[in-house]
Amino acid sequence: MTDCLFCRIVAGEIPANKVYEDSQLIGFWDIAPKAPVHVLLIPKQHITSLYHMNDSNQGLIQAMIVAAPVLAQEMGLAEGFRLIANTGEACGQTVHHVHFHILGSFTDAGDTG
Ligand code: 5GP
Ligand code: ZN
Repeated sequence: MTDCLFCRIVAGEIPANKVYEDSQLIGFWDIAPKAPVHVLLIPKQHITSLYHMNDSNQGLIQAMIVAAPVLAQEMGLAEGFRLIANTGEACGQTVHHVHFHILGSFTDAGDTG
């Protein structure tokens, strides 16, 4: 059994509120949303961070970038969304399985940095 939290979510060992799934990716609600809509988009394959992706992951990178706006639209974020990938502990990465945060529906986007 893996000790990676997101791999355990992919395996169904830890429940998550899933909002998206395709052959390579899943999307699910963040457990502690920082905005009215806050979902995470992750590859099913374990990759530690963006620093651990390279040319061999081209197809996966493309799939993540293409899926992000699809998922955002499905979450009702037609007016826009924020895409964040904290990379490395020094910049706030706490789960070491690469993921995009998709955030939106801010009441005042100017205040959220
Ligand atoms: P990071 O800080 O690594 O960029 O983001 C990790 C995110 O995972 C955080 O926003 C945190 O709230 C979320 N998270 C941590 N544990 C769980 C969990 O068990 N389930 C879900 N759905 N999200 C989690
Ligand atoms: Zn993992």
